[in-house]
Amino acid sequence: MKQFVYSFEQEAELSGILVAFKKECPQTFSSLLVTVFTHWDDANIIGRLTEKITAALPQAQIAGMTTSGGINDGHLEMHRTIITFMVFNDTWLKVFTFGEDIDPVETGDLFLVECQSMNNLQGIEFLATLHTFNVQAFMKRLDDLPKRVAVFGGGADNYDANHNTYVFTENTIMNAGMVAVCFDSKTLIVHVHSGFGWKPLGSPMRITSTHGNMIVRELDGQPAISVYEKYLKISGNQYFHKNTLEFPLLLERNGASLARLPDDYMEDGSLVFNADCHEGEYVRLAYGDTEEILRHTRHIQQTIIGTSPEGVLVFSCVTRRIFLGDAVDLELKHYHDIATTGGGYTHGEFDRRGGRIQMLNMTLVTASFREGAVTEPPASLPDTDAAEISDAMSLAQRLACFITVTSQELVQANHKLSVLAKHDGLTDLFNRGEIEAQLKHQLDTFVSPLSVIMLDIDNFKSINDNFGHEMGDSVLKTVAQLLTQNIRQVDAAGRWGGEEFLIVLPGSDLKAAIAVAERIRKKLEATEILPAKRKVTASFGAASVNDGEEYLAFYQRVDANLYTAKQTGKNRVVAN
Ligand code: GH3
Ligand code: MG
Ligand code: MG
Repeated sequence: MKQFVYSFEQEAELSGILVAFKKECPQTFSSLLVTVFTHWDDANIIGRLTEKITAALPQAQIAGMTTSGGINDGHLEMHRTIITFMVFNDTWLKVFTFGEDIDPVETGDLFLVECQSMNNLQGIEFLATLHTFNVQAFMKRLDDLPKRVAVFGGGADNYDANHNTYVFTENTIMNAGMVAVCFDSKTLIVHVHSGFGWKPLGSPMRITSTHGNMIVRELDGQPAISVYEKYLKISGNQYFHKNTLEFPLLLERNGASLARLPDDYMEDGSLVFNADCHEGEYVRLAYGDTEEILRHTRHIQQTIIGTSPEGVLVFSCVTRRIFLGDAVDLELKHYHDIATTGGGYTHGEFDRRGGRIQMLNMTLVTASFREGAVTEPPASLPDTDAAEISDAMSLAQRLACFITVTSQELVQANHKLSVLAKHDGLTDLFNRGEIEAQLKHQLDTFVSPLSVIMLDIDNFKSINDNFGHEMGDSVLKTVAQLLTQNIRQVDAAGRWGGEEFLIVLPGSDLKAAIAVAERIRKKLEATEILPAKRKVTASFGAASVNDGEEYLAFYQRVDANLYTAKQTGKNRVVAN
């Protein structure tokens, strides 16, 4: 195959392009796909364009969409129309259009059958008006497409971000609908990659109420819009969509991060999305990280250059263009080194992961094409230049970086504080406050059986006196280690006071608790900690909670058992 990409600003320029292309175009071909990314969101102009193309190239099959930015040969081209001609040797195309009147389930099923009847279907390009056409239900029907079928494409956009977006073919121009191009070929290889690069900011919030699967009513029990009001001072007014463009919500699904960008809000504070969000999922606000974005794209470019493609189509979310600003060309420039590249800025993107067609936001989807095996050695790209990336960052991006790093430091500091607040500095076991709180919590949510062991090192004062305080500390640490090594994950051990420890054993009856205590007692006795074979031992009190028993009564029972153990000769376990 061969791909040719041109761009133009004035309608009148198209004739010259068609003449130029005809000179370049090989004499024979199996099919010719003309993909148009146009800056005109005007059905009359689009109609004239497609007529002209058809008149000059009657064999051409056209698939086009309105966009909010053109991509031509590694550059952003604003307010221009990009036209790509893909000339195939050995690939047959089938183009479908779906209007807003279709039943998505029924039509999806019919389309699936149609696709399954093509023996060598390699890929499908979808162009849709996502504001006005719900592709979700349709796409769901396509899970059974053969595994090899790659899916790519995007949602039409325009410069006004209004709903005058169009998708079209040589026969149809739709303000609400979808175009599908099926690539049927024995030799065509289609690779689709999507790059992201947005990072979460702030805490996770639960989707607590939805309406259908595209409207989120509440996050953490609050009207969803209040997240934007509280953290970003973005309110529900005519600028809402524009202001939220750079701040999607991020959700984790099947181990991957998916962005969800609110298209609109409703009177009750609900947020309207163009892709699915489900009750119970967690979302976080997110912001773009220039470095991450450029790194992802470079990685994709490195991967596809290795496959020596003969043509590339790019569908990139308009938010990336807005976010990256001048750095957009930094993201796109290496497409120039890979193959002829045409593309446009979109509102929503498609790709297929794990057999499912995904509706994406904020991504850059690259589809690369090649007919036949690679004969030449694959080229490669230079690595990402860190200085170049840093130079491209705007003030806002540097501030976003500042916030992320500060938040990460705060998270780490909070983590350290909470560890400090709950743990004993010497032994690393839970401290008195924490182990007591855990015991009380277990009693409050009492599930029988529940047992506790309390132990106190025997004659510890004399250890200090004979071997020094430091040796005393070291004994405490060794005992603490012995405890953690001899209890289960669900158990908890804490330092109750000086040389006194408490172990909480949920789900253990008295017999099991005695066994644990005995095991620890014997191990301690056998552990050589002190010089001159001087043994360290401890006395143990154990008890199981009786139904309805209060904390104080229970604690006194355990303590009394420990006291009895001390009184009756130490180095023993007393339980009742
Ligand atoms: P018994 O067998 O009856 O339990 O006698 P004991 O000597 O172990 O008990 P006593 O309560 O008389 O003494 C406990 C000693 O533990 C007194 C205190 O100085 C010492 N101690 C408390 N906390 C620490 C500590 O963190 N490090 C050290 N080295 N000693 C401590
Ligand atoms: Mg003691
Ligand atoms: Mg004591």
